[in-house]
Amino acid sequence: MSRLVVVSNRVADPRKAAAGGLAVALGDALNTMGGLWFGWSGVVIADGTPGDGALHQQKAGNVTLATVDLCAEDHAGYYLGYSNGVLWPVCHYRLDLARFDAGYFGAYQRVNRLFARHLLPLLRSDDIIWIHDYHLIPLADELRALGAKQRIGFFLHVPLPPQQVLAAIPQHEWLMRALFAYDLVGLQSQADLQNFSHYVQAEAGAEALGDHYYRAFDRTVQAGAFPIGIDVDEFAALTHAKDARDMYERMKGEYSRRQLLLGVERLDYSKGLPQRVRAFKALLKKYPDNLRSATLIQIAAPSREAMDTYTGLLQELESLCGAINGDFGELDWMPVRYMHRNVARKRLPGLYRVARVALVTPLRDGMNLVAKEFIAAQDPADPGVLVLSRFAGAAEQLEQALLVNPYDTDGMADTIQRALQMPLQERQSRYQALLNNIRAQDVHWWRKRFLAALAAATRG
Ligand code: UDP
Repeated sequence: MSRLVVVSNRVADPRKAAAGGLAVALGDALNTMGGLWFGWSGVVIADGTPGDGALHQQKAGNVTLATVDLCAEDHAGYYLGYSNGVLWPVCHYRLDLARFDAGYFGAYQRVNRLFARHLLPLLRSDDIIWIHDYHLIPLADELRALGAKQRIGFFLHVPLPPQQVLAAIPQHEWLMRALFAYDLVGLQSQADLQNFSHYVQAEAGAEALGDHYYRAFDRTVQAGAFPIGIDVDEFAALTHAKDARDMYERMKGEYSRRQLLLGVERLDYSKGLPQRVRAFKALLKKYPDNLRSATLIQIAAPSREAMDTYTGLLQELESLCGAINGDFGELDWMPVRYMHRNVARKRLPGLYRVARVALVTPLRDGMNLVAKEFIAAQDPADPGVLVLSRFAGAAEQLEQALLVNPYDTDGMADTIQRALQMPLQERQSRYQALLNNIRAQDVHWWRKRFLAALAAATRG
């Protein structure tokens, strides 16, 4: 059996539960196939040389973790600059927030080249290589330039926007050409796959060979939709473990008289937080039966705080939440509880389980794992209701959620009211259908399907 090599911006020790579902799933595969996980060490060297960084290797059970340090200039340009200041906003359809700085692109190329240089000598000729996400689009091309002949797959965890949006990236042609160095390009949704298909045909004149094979630049690449799932059993086990149970008991006691609405995400402009808070305000205005009762707990975990766009969002959110509490709050009822803090993953299921309604209403999201985790944590006898944005990748699978348009404030308020009023029998039948879906299409299904498609992809 071939060895699996996983490459991602960050590397996690697959033996540690806190690493999350993706690390567990990839760790599973790495353990079975024996493998290597390669990425950035998380270390930034203040006075290091651009394009240079030490390689570290350690064993984690059956798996080798290989990581590379970055100098401050490369970290700023590659990670904060090109990855999160250009590719992240563009992939989330936010051209207005993208900063097209030529220096960023140079650092992005440099770091991908550095990774290729360190990775190549660690590879064996029959390795299967799986590269993850927008930070590393050109890595296969860099490896091929150094002579790598192995099968290489790529999975994009963020959305792939339409051609006209992608084409705004000054280097989009270079990026697209780099995608043709892969044997398989995996995307989250059918919508992303359609965008890919249209983009490569319109911009590169790629020939569609059928079965989502495309030929351009003298190479053939296959594309496919592989919606990522969660490890449902792992999450169910977390739900019944002590930390989550403690959280559940504490919150249940506190909110037994109230209807709890819950939002959990990183503080990111793709997540539609201001829009959600405005919809909650509309709910209180339009349906006054919720006064002194409905309470929104919004967890907004700190994220990318070194970037200005994130600071502005924090201020907007704080002022919106403050205004609602000022206008609607009573001495014994605070409509919004907003927390700019991370909640440990092992405690989250307790919070999910106590919530009557989860509000997962991003303006755009690759998949959204919180939506799936919420389902996995519910009590089958009295499940909560998932209100989900039609613009989350998960909406293609989770049809039995209540789907909303996050830009439509009044429509969202009406749907939240429907969720709050939903009879037990309807809640149960929707929950069962959703649970069946996340079980059938879990993270192990995702990983196996991708690796099988990569092994079967016709090369050329
Ligand atoms: N998460 C967490 N604590 C928090 C907020 C989020 O552990 O305070 C976890 C959450 O359980 C989920 C992940 O972070 O597994 C977020 O994944 P998702 O796909 O929803 O969004 P992303 O942050 O990747 O855009």
